[in-house]
Amino acid sequence: MNFLPLLDKLEKTQALTDAELGGLLEDTSPRLASELALRARAVRERIYGRAVYIRGLIEFTNYCRNNCYYCGIRRDNLKALRYRLTPEEILACCAAGYRLGFRTFVLQGGEDAYFTDKRLEGLLRAIKKSYPDCAITLSLGERSRDSYARLFEAGADRYLLRHETADEGHYRHLHPGEMSLRHRLQCLRDLQAIGYQTGCGMMVGSPGQTTEHLIKDLRLLQELQPEMAGIGPFIPQHDTPFAMQPSGTAAGTLKLLSLIRLLLPNVLLPATTALGTIDPQGREKGLLAGANVLMTNLSPVAVRKKYALYDNKICMKEDAAQILDRLNKQVEATGYRIVRNRGDYPG
Ligand code: SAM
Repeated sequence: MNFLPLLDKLEKTQALTDAELGGLLEDTSPRLASELALRARAVRERIYGRAVYIRGLIEFTNYCRNNCYYCGIRRDNLKALRYRLTPEEILACCAAGYRLGFRTFVLQGGEDAYFTDKRLEGLLRAIKKSYPDCAITLSLGERSRDSYARLFEAGADRYLLRHETADEGHYRHLHPGEMSLRHRLQCLRDLQAIGYQTGCGMMVGSPGQTTEHLIKDLRLLQELQPEMAGIGPFIPQHDTPFAMQPSGTAAGTLKLLSLIRLLLPNVLLPATTALGTIDPQGREKGLLAGANVLMTNLSPVAVRKKYALYDNKICMKEDAAQILDRLNKQVEATGYRIVRNRGDYPG
């Protein structure tokens, strides 16, 4: 198909019909992928120049009350070795990250009832007191609006909550009946209303995903206009109900990264660890397809293996300094450069 007029329209107006978006999603030609990447890169360079923002990820608990069919830390996975970091351990991760130049800490975990608002407030205040120049991103799943408000008040700046899929039926295919898309979206709206820089997103190639589902995902992103979008391939984990399902592809993920950059020009868009897991050059390719953020694991090496959301996750053994050193070289090879600041959403 001649996609150039469509890409011109997408770039100028961000307004394509569902049929046009579907056509772009279903065209798997390398020509389209490279034209999309070229344009996405031009948009990201207009807004962010050559800067790549880094985030220090602290996976501080793998206890989870949820049972998402795709996730290795789901509550019914009795083989998962559970752990929680202490506040002292979390602060030590921040200290090591700060020394390396990280100015955003991402606290991610399963939905762990041990981490009450009170405990989290204490932790957030302690981090902010030691590192007032740093941003804190939370990724703790679904909580009440009151809880989100308390955590914001205590110092959290941003919140990542992937919507996972914007289609009701597909949501039910990926999650047990006790979870609902309606509640997930309510949480996202609460986070935005409170004032968080908010991120949503989906896995690419999750079991049962169709082009129609992806169109709905892109529409939701356009409607919510999140400051961040977390997009990575689905990768099976051997102790989950989806153990035998195929992974999403790097090509599919890269195309979505480019489309999202063109639809939401300012968005903070990570090239994820999952993308680096299915393709050794995945993160560099992600940056060249429109992404502008990289996450580095600051968690103690001893617990990394236990945060096994999916199989063959990379960066399990190197410490943060080694990962950053390698990332620096990989990023330089793309012509971009890692910068050491908070990396906030523009404006
Ligand atoms: N509990 C929080 C939540 O629900 O947002 C944060 C932790 S959760 C494990 C973080 C993200 O990991 C999920 O939003 C999901 O998209 C991703 N994830 C989980 N299992 C995955 C898999 N098998 N492949 C790729 N990504 C996965």
